[in-house]
Amino acid sequence: MKKLYIETVGCQMNVLDSELVVAALRKEGYELTASTADADTVLFNTCSVRQHAEDKIYSALGRIKEAKRDDPKKVIGVIGCMAQKDQQLVFDRAPYVDLVVGPGQLHQVPQLIRNIEAGAGQQMEVSLGRKEGSRDQIERSHESFDPLRDPSMRPTPFQAYVRIQIGCDKFCTYCIVPSVRGPEQSRPPEQIVAEARQLVSEGCKEITLLGQTVNSYRYQAGERTTRFSDLLTDLHAIEGLERLKFVTNYPKDMTDDLLAAVRDLPKCAKYLHVPAQSGSDAQLKRMRRGYTVAEYREMFARTVEKIPGVAVSSDFIVGFSGETDADFQLSMDLVRECRFKNSFIFKYSERPGTKGADLLPDDVPEQVKRDRNNEMLALQNEISEADNQGFLGRQVKVLVEGLSKAAQKKESPSAEDNGPLVQLIGRTMCDRIVVFDGNRRQVGQTMPIAIYDANVHTLFGTVVTQHVGAELVTLE
Ligand code: SF4
Repeated sequence: MKKLYIETVGCQMNVLDSELVVAALRKEGYELTASTADADTVLFNTCSVRQHAEDKIYSALGRIKEAKRDDPKKVIGVIGCMAQKDQQLVFDRAPYVDLVVGPGQLHQVPQLIRNIEAGAGQQMEVSLGRKEGSRDQIERSHESFDPLRDPSMRPTPFQAYVRIQIGCDKFCTYCIVPSVRGPEQSRPPEQIVAEARQLVSEGCKEITLLGQTVNSYRYQAGERTTRFSDLLTDLHAIEGLERLKFVTNYPKDMTDDLLAAVRDLPKCAKYLHVPAQSGSDAQLKRMRRGYTVAEYREMFARTVEKIPGVAVSSDFIVGFSGETDADFQLSMDLVRECRFKNSFIFKYSERPGTKGADLLPDDVPEQVKRDRNNEMLALQNEISEADNQGFLGRQVKVLVEGLSKAAQKKESPSAEDNGPLVQLIGRTMCDRIVVFDGNRRQVGQTMPIAIYDANVHTLFGTVVTQHVGAELVTLE
């Protein structure tokens, strides 16, 4: 058996890509190892959304230089978004790297490794850049890579990501995704439904659909148009599937038919992640987000009106080019007004190859970015904690994912040393994290949990058992 070490940074799309690359290499006789020293092949699946993510990989490459010198046959590969963005630069900065493969060419990884093992030297396969051909040529150079699935590669066998779309055409000025993941392309609905059916037959209960702007999914086959709401309805009909989630939404594509589908399809999570990025029209214009704050507010109001009890989370970038204190306060106002379940808040990181880097100065001082990030995080945490406190004394349905981090640390490798009760973790239909004491047989099951405490990120509960006599009121 050959040994494979793979390290993944970045988004869910990268986590899915790594699962698929491992599944393809298993067919080549590989097994996974957690040690780069033991590995015959070492792969880094990379991210380019922020400078920090790239620096992390280049330092990891630096650390592996000696292992490669000691074992020249060891194959070192860089795959994913940074590979597509940097291409030859990866080899220039780390000449001992053997393989560079962009996210649109991952299906070639097994063959390229064979070429290297056969002495063909360094191998690079990337997709065409957005100006390097016709739309059709560029689309075809970004292959949607959806082969075998490998439950062992997933955090839990009963949860899986399914890609429904690749690429993006929005070209927000701060974002590298359209350059590294190519044009927006929706996968044929039949393929998606077949993959989901396969996953459910392997024991999967929860599927999260992935797309850069997942709700702009649309597939045209002759006269027939499949909208995102149609796809959700088709997936919802799969026997054995319990939960359907999807990320990440684009505010302008939150159509009424989609909101109705989320409301009316019981397996659909009443949880929507809809990045706002800023509460200032001036900033949204500089970001070329394609909507105004008023339009975002209208989308938000329509969503909470149409879907009772829906949880909405968001993303914000602070310190983007030209952001004034007044702009920032407008973003704070939007957080206060919408009371998001949670928000991912990022300090602007200028990305070479984006319109922002070409056209707009990165003129907000780092300290100001840090202060604004902390200020907004403090506000959001206050809101998230108050929101979670609202669950005290109520019950929720939780899909149990496994042992909590704390319990994993305490877990003894020999089962007989572990007590019957252990702290378990899971999520509600609205993506709220719940921990409670239970037994290991409950992993993978959906349990009714009564909530007795909460903090910013977590609800704390106990398993509801009928004979306690508590009336079972399902919240989510
Ligand atoms: S919508 Fe904007 S931020 Fe999102 S992936 Fe596309 S370009 Fe990037």
